[in-house]
Amino acid sequence: MTPPSSTTIESTAESAVGPGAFATTAESPTVSGADDAAVSATLGGERKTGWEQFALGLFVVVPFLALVAAIPVMWGWGLGWHDIVIAAVMYAISGHGVTIGYHRLFTHRAFKANRWLRVTLAFAGGMAIEGPVVRWVADHRRHHAFSDREGDPHSPWRFGNSFGALTKGLLWAHIGWLFDPEQTDPNRYAPDLVADRDVVRVSRLFWLQGTLSLGLPPLIGGLWSMSITGALTGFFWGALVRVSLLHHVTWSVNSICHAAGQRPFRSRDKSGNVWWLSVFSMGESWHNLHHADPTSARHGVLRGQLDSSGRIIWLFEKFGWVHDVRWPSAERIKARLVAERERERQLATQAS
Ligand SMILES: [Zn+2]
Ligand SMILES: [Zn+2]
Repeated sequence: MTPPSSTTIESTAESAVGPGAFATTAESPTVSGADDAAVSATLGGERKTGWEQFALGLFVVVPFLALVAAIPVMWGWGLGWHDIVIAAVMYAISGHGVTIGYHRLFTHRAFKANRWLRVTLAFAGGMAIEGPVVRWVADHRRHHAFSDREGDPHSPWRFGNSFGALTKGLLWAHIGWLFDPEQTDPNRYAPDLVADRDVVRVSRLFWLQGTLSLGLPPLIGGLWSMSITGALTGFFWGALVRVSLLHHVTWSVNSICHAAGQRPFRSRDKSGNVWWLSVFSMGESWHNLHHADPTSARHGVLRGQLDSSGRIIWLFEKFGWVHDVRWPSAERIKARLVAERERERQLATQAS
């Protein structure tokens, strides 16, 4: 693959992280309409063809079947309410560590946080076992810099638009890219984090985050029930199933949310809003809005769109733990709606 020129990388990466990102995003030529041909291919309301739906269905069902197959084996004897509580709490802590910490804070600087909270969020994110924070951020910024174009580390459109190419692309975006020997250079994509001593320290303690992530559920499960069985089932549900489910949900944002879903907002890629992933993805599956407005602290901005990560940032702000939160204003949201743009275009046509 030919890497695009460095100026393209820096200017687009900047639009994903700020500061000043609001201005750069709004003025980006591809977003403002100078490149209408490129934009129109990805606007909302497009219908997918039958084979696209089929490939997607196949792709969604098969990996989850493996996960679901484990449940009947344990059901009835190996799942107690202790396990459910442990798994749910661990899912929420490690998951929000990724969505609020890794993603909205460290990648996109959607808000500023007190030092102890920054460190806590980075540590909690590590417990999702999706890699150290600096590496995750570098990969994700590269994804925004090239979203669904050459250079994107995990676009499902990497191999083309045909049935076979999309099937292969979805597998690549979901899991294959993780095995790509080509690594994103953190010095280029995350120099701010490389220079941040706290973040580097937490990043280097990734082994500890992984150990605690897998070790705490059996420890708590064992102590809670004072039994070996409690430790074993705690490990199965609270560590294995929880980590696996969280991985698949995170990967689904890379794969499914770039191939399916509604596209009510203008973005220069194929990102979509996938409602049925919103609870488990903790608001991250409102991915079309996220690509239309990467630095927004809230992703579920329309009525009824659940976004637990956005809600927790709002709570942190109330407690005084975070500040300078980039909440999207009503005008800002409206300006990015495809329908709104279309309405303005029609009004302009009528007037002329
Ligand atoms: Zn994306
Ligand atoms: Zn992002």
